Amino acid sequence: MSGTCAACDCELDENPIKVTVGGNAVEVCCDDCAQALREADASQAQGSGS
Ligand SMILES: [Zn+2]
Repeated sequence: MSGTCAACDCELDENPIKVTVGGNAVEVCCDDCAQALREADASQAQGSGS
């Protein structure tokens, strides 16, 4: 937990955005990064169904 964005690896400021991806809580720098992770997670979930 060194405080970097899970999407773009830039440093987080004092108000990171928390996103849950694949059951893991991660922090991102902005809403664009949050949306990108959510979309990636959604596409993975669809691809790994039973
Ligand atoms: Zn970011």
